[in-house]
Amino acid sequence: MRKNSWIVWLLLLAGAFVVVELHPQVVPQVESQVKATNDKVQPYLYLIKTNIESKLNGTTKTTTEKQVGKVSTPIEEPLKNMITAKTYYYHFDNNVPENVQQVFQNAVDTYNNTGIVRLIPQKSEPNQNNITFFIYHKKINNIASSTVELGNGGPSALQLNNYAINSGRAGLNMTYPNMSVKNSVAMHELGHALGLAHSSYTNSVMYPVDQGVTKLSEADLNGLRKIYNQSTTTD
Ligand SMILES: [Zn+2]
Repeated sequence: MRKNSWIVWLLLLAGAFVVVELHPQVVPQVESQVKATNDKVQPYLYLIKTNIESKLNGTTKTTTEKQVGKVSTPIEEPLKNMITAKTYYYHFDNNVPENVQQVFQNAVDTYNNTGIVRLIPQKSEPNQNNITFFIYHKKINNIASSTVELGNGGPSALQLNNYAINSGRAGLNMTYPNMSVKNSVAMHELGHALGLAHSSYTNSVMYPVDQGVTKLSEADLNGLRKIYNQSTTTD
């Protein structure tokens, strides 16, 4: 626990630094309207499949979206009803090993292939959308609970009126590399960084329990289109 709270504080400080750093460079004359709405790390969990019913508190659905008609994967709060650029600049933290870079690169390629977002491998300027890929270590104390956090990620939006600059993060838990270094987990965490929230449908990459899904569902694509201001197929 001590180690975990240390990491959280470090990330909080890093988030605060980003906000402080960005602030003066975003249209200074409207500085008072700039609000950092999301400078906290959100501990998104990604759990293994066993014994999940009690963990998800009734949010599980065994149906797929095909059975209930077309839906849209929910959007993370910081990017809801905001306008944001579809172009992202991404980089890997220095300690990210090759195999982790590979699964995140596969995920980047999959999202780029949608044409909805454009992820470019270079460091961003302060006013550009960006994504940092990272690794961390988090041991599950109560292994009897049969749930393991495989990764976490999320958007962090600096909001100027209804315009958002998103500094997303996506990371894998390297305490359990055999379970976490997977394309499905990378797809899920990058989805969070891009603004997708959890889906209750098992064929979504955003279902909170790893189903090995690496293909974005129609609802996932609709969610992305909403965030990046394209018309959805449900409209
Ligand atoms: Zn998640």
